[in-house]
Amino acid sequence: MGNILVFLEHDKGILPESTLSVLSAAGELKEKWGKEKLIGICFGPSAENAAEEALSYGPDLVLYSIQPVFEKYLAIPYAEAVIQACKEENCGVLVGAATSVGKDFFPRVAVALDAGQASEVLAVNDDGSLKRFMYAGEILAEIEVCSENRVLSIRSTAFSPAEEGERKGQSKEVQFSVESELSSEIVSYHFSEGDRPDLFSADCVVSGGRGLGSEESFKDHIFPLADVLGAAVGASRAAVDSGFAPNNWQIGQTGKMVAPKLYIAVGISGAAQHLAGMKDSSVIVAVNKNDEAPIFEIADYGLVADLFQVVPELVEEIKRIKQMN
Ligand code: FAD
Repeated sequence: MGNILVFLEHDKGILPESTLSVLSAAGELKEKWGKEKLIGICFGPSAENAAEEALSYGPDLVLYSIQPVFEKYLAIPYAEAVIQACKEENCGVLVGAATSVGKDFFPRVAVALDAGQASEVLAVNDDGSLKRFMYAGEILAEIEVCSENRVLSIRSTAFSPAEEGERKGQSKEVQFSVESELSSEIVSYHFSEGDRPDLFSADCVVSGGRGLGSEESFKDHIFPLADVLGAAVGASRAAVDSGFAPNNWQIGQTGKMVAPKLYIAVGISGAAQHLAGMKDSSVIVAVNKNDEAPIFEIADYGLVADLFQVVPELVEEIKRIKQMN
């Protein structure tokens, strides 16, 4: 039997949709793997609020810690505390979102617990096997993790968020014995400016590629289209490497995985590594002057045209339609 430990990422005590999706994936795992309890865990100064909120979404118990060492995320203390919680609460399974934080510290936990890890899980089959992409999304694999302990990161866009229900469990503050003299520290955070929606939660993403030609041109073409649609801005790796866009906008295998309702790719060829990060989008629109660009193979709507001509026209047309309504 045993229990499942659910790592609950939160933003100042509020659970984002990605964490609610983790709770729904954990609920499925509990049922299909025949586990006894869901135990949540969260850290940081506002962890108590996150723990209280989480209790409405299924866990039997939520552990939280507000020890100063957890104030700013660092892999070592997070991993040490999660390892202790797994051992003390009889949790042979750890599950969380495949965010930058999950990707960073879950492998440490897996090594310490001698656990097999499945990353970016997309679905839990009825027989308990898992689905995940391999080879940059070229292959949809069905896998089983055969070790006694198991660590899973899930792709949160693949699971519906858990629905609020009756609270049955309780939260519990815990003091973990973690190393407080660390060899690294977070000096400060610089949040990206702007009012645009976050890439993970946006219904629409407008992404620019190398076809934009320069940073100026990226700003002049991608920003107005994103703004008129209320969209988040993304970029291909070539656009990031060329300095047109910051690193945290990169979509793809080595960037962010998004699945908005509408994804507009402008001047992006559609390399497999880019498609790996956006092909689950509901509707894909591509603007490219080369009618043989691979992006057209997965696009629902393709515009073979010079972006410098059609993107400003698109922006004007969308503004006109919005004014009419
Ligand atoms: P290009 O391939 O150069 O395409 C530019 C496109 O713009 C072309 O199709 C061209 O026809 C079009 N274009 C040019 N001018 C115009 C115009 N005026 N109007 C309309 N269209 C125009 N890439 C990612 O994006 N994300 C990743 O996470 C990622 N991870 C990677 C990991 C590894 C291990 C490796 C090896 C590669 C990775 N890549 C990733 C890189 C990937 O292979 C491609 O090189 C990259 O996606 C190409 O970016 P692009 O489409 O913007 O550029």
